Amino acid sequence: MSAPIVEGWAWPLNMRKAHYVRKGTSLCGRMMYLGSHLEPDIGPSPDNCKECQKRRLKEVTP
Ligand SMILES: [Zn+2]
Repeated sequence: MSAPIVEGWAWPLNMRKAHYVRKGTSLCGRMMYLGSHLEPDIGPSPDNCKECQKRRLKEVTP
């Protein structure tokens, strides 16, 4: 049994940018997201929220 995805990029309809959501809150702290549609992180994209991107990069960069 695989664990459900609990974090990833969320792009709600009313947002211009995707935010990286973990446990219902974006990394930048500006957005709450309780939906289940999360895209896996595939690297930097111009469509991503800059603050979320920066924090996410810090996590994955040694
Ligand atoms: Zn964000």
